[in-house]
Amino acid sequence: MRISEEKGIDLLEHGDPIELGTQADAARRKLFDDTVTFIVDRNINYTNVCKNECRFCAFFRRKEAKDAYLLNNEEILAKVGETVAAGGTQVMIQGGLYPDLGLDYYETMLRSIKATYPQITIHSFTATEIQYFAQQAGLSILDTLKRLQEAGLDSLPGGGAEILVDEVRKRVSPKKIMTDDWLHVMECAHSIGMESTATMVIGFGETLAQRIEHMEKVRRLQDKTGGFRAFITWTFQPGNTELGGEKTSGWDYMKTLAVTRLYMDNIKHIQGSWVTQGERIGQLTLGFGADDLGSIMLEENVVRAAGTQYEMSINKMTELIRGAGKQPAQRDTEYNIIKRY
Ligand code: SF4
Repeated sequence: MRISEEKGIDLLEHGDPIELGTQADAARRKLFDDTVTFIVDRNINYTNVCKNECRFCAFFRRKEAKDAYLLNNEEILAKVGETVAAGGTQVMIQGGLYPDLGLDYYETMLRSIKATYPQITIHSFTATEIQYFAQQAGLSILDTLKRLQEAGLDSLPGGGAEILVDEVRKRVSPKKIMTDDWLHVMECAHSIGMESTATMVIGFGETLAQRIEHMEKVRRLQDKTGGFRAFITWTFQPGNTELGGEKTSGWDYMKTLAVTRLYMDNIKHIQGSWVTQGERIGQLTLGFGADDLGSIMLEENVVRAAGTQYEMSINKMTELIRGAGKQPAQRDTEYNIIKRY
């Protein structure tokens, strides 16, 4: 039976983490055998300039900053080429909100990637960027997404969701899109067959009830569209940010992760995070409901800017998965298995 919001809050507040982990693992076993997947991809951050200046973000720079940058098409293509050469199947292109770039900058980028590397999946741009592109171009969200899809955009990552409760958003990222905007971008994308993932970032000082409110909003939209492939929980990295504060504990993360497997009963894949948690906690997530360990990121800049950096390789990833008694497999963006180890 579906977990109600009240029950969800109760589980987060009073649930025993080990018991929750056992239940989440049982829920995972109903859907999957012992295979645990990962993807090989690269994050390409085309610019670190961002007009939003979120208080939790260590990555953005003002346009006039010495280390502000904007990559040109050749530089982006070179990075995609390196990804393909390293066996990667996906690129996640994301930036800040760079003022004065027309939609043609992104369309040219997408078209030239697809023309040169048709085998690569372009899983790129957060809902925040999509809304900004639309605003700049004077187009609706739907028309903007259609233009980008036509140019080669395959799917959307779930970034920019953080906690989908405006009270929290106004405190940590007042200039960023609000809850309904994020949900609207996702709904429009799903309506044209562009699937996505959903993320949740915990540790902003949000209440446990607000975490459940976030999950509930995503679960409702998924009931309507079915377009979310995976749910991914990350923890806020306070280093070098205006917001600052303490890192969320591994304990809190594990408990929340287990509840996401139980609560998000209509999203198949639950991803464990080694990027924010490190490899050991990442490995433990496989007993707490996660069926996927995300990406071997050939390049990652955003979490690193906050002072957190864990290295991962295919060898290390397969060892981690085997160490948890599971069978490692490389997947593509749509979660098809493309190689077993
Ligand atoms: S989180 Fe995203 S929108 Fe906010 S400042 Fe950083 S790059 Fe900009």
